Amino acid sequence: MSTTSTVGEVIVVGGGAGGLTAALVLARARHRVTVIDDQTPRNATVGEFHGFPTRDATAPHRFRADALTELGSYGVTIVRSAVASALSTDRNVAMKMADGTVILGDAAVLATGVHDELPQIDGLARRWGTSVFNCPFCDGWEHRDRPVVVIDAAPGADHLAEMVRSWTPDVTVVAAADVVALCGEGSTLTHVTLRDGRVIEATGAFVKAPVVPRSSVARALECAVDDDGYIVTTETGATSNPLVWAAGDVRRPPPMPHQVVLAAADGSTAAIAIHKSFIAGALGFSKVHQGVAR
Ligand SMILES: Cc1cc2nc3c(=O)[nH]c(=O)nc-3n(C[C@H](O)[C@H](O)[C@H](O)COP(=O)(O)OP(=O)(O)OC[C@H]3O[C@@H](n4cnc5c(N)ncnc54)[C@H](O)[C@@H]3O)c2cc1C
Repeated sequence: MSTTSTVGEVIVVGGGAGGLTAALVLARARHRVTVIDDQTPRNATVGEFHGFPTRDATAPHRFRADALTELGSYGVTIVRSAVASALSTDRNVAMKMADGTVILGDAAVLATGVHDELPQIDGLARRWGTSVFNCPFCDGWEHRDRPVVVIDAAPGADHLAEMVRSWTPDVTVVAAADVVALCGEGSTLTHVTLRDGRVIEATGAFVKAPVVPRSSVARALECAVDDDGYIVTTETGATSNPLVWAAGDVRRPPPMPHQVVLAAADGSTAAIAIHKSFIAGALGFSKVHQGVAR
């Protein structure tokens, strides 16, 4: 075995844009990287995402598959499982899987994303990401100058409607509690029916719903989170645990935007900060790394 091949051992939890980018940059900086991902990304049902140069209108599953192929070429280990619990000492982090397997690292990147708590409305969930969305910067263009409803299921719906009006003047705001069903052929939307019998024509819907950070691993590692559960970080993604960084939506409380390109940027930023910490001698105590066979 080469004696100089690995700078440090890093665990990345989360295989979305944030985690995959962190893993790529770390692997290329000669770290041994393990990505743990339970394959429930926020955009799992999204037909195509937008706003990422060269990947505009790409299916998210295609993006992840291509990234995993790239990571494979650098020898990154992929574990398709959920982290059930986690622990850290001042020297290493340990991730425990549901089957009891434990994975150890010198440092970790948490890119676990957020969860959208969608209102229980007939026909909504199966259109999430195809004709029902959360963000006009992501999907407003496809609905420009068309009839759109904004569904109010959380504070901020009026602001969302104001934003959507940049793309189309035909915006109707409805309370989630007043909506009976979203209707149309397959995953398309043609109209929304309300409890009072009204029918609103709409080819798209934007939902203001609660967004919940997936920060259970961060809490287990005693990383500080804010009142809403977002991981508190510095600009480079460092958390209050000196062995742990965060990237992507889970470290982006409102009004910070949630975008694939921003999650990717976070992953790269965290990876570079981690590498610099190894080089500065602030990480990697648990094993001897540079110049010594592992
Ligand atoms: C309907 C919709 C449409 C969107 N459209 C766009 C768009 O057009 N353009 C755009 O830029 N953005 C879009 N977004 C936003 C975009 O999806 C997110 O900003 C992006 O996915 C964030 O990436 P991430 O890596 O932070 O999190 P995610 O992509 O959510 O990845 C997090 C990963 O962590 C894993 N995970 C979480 N907890 C654990 C655990 N305990 N153990 C193991 N794995 C775990 C999950 O399985 C998941 O794969 C859209 C979002 C939605 C909801």
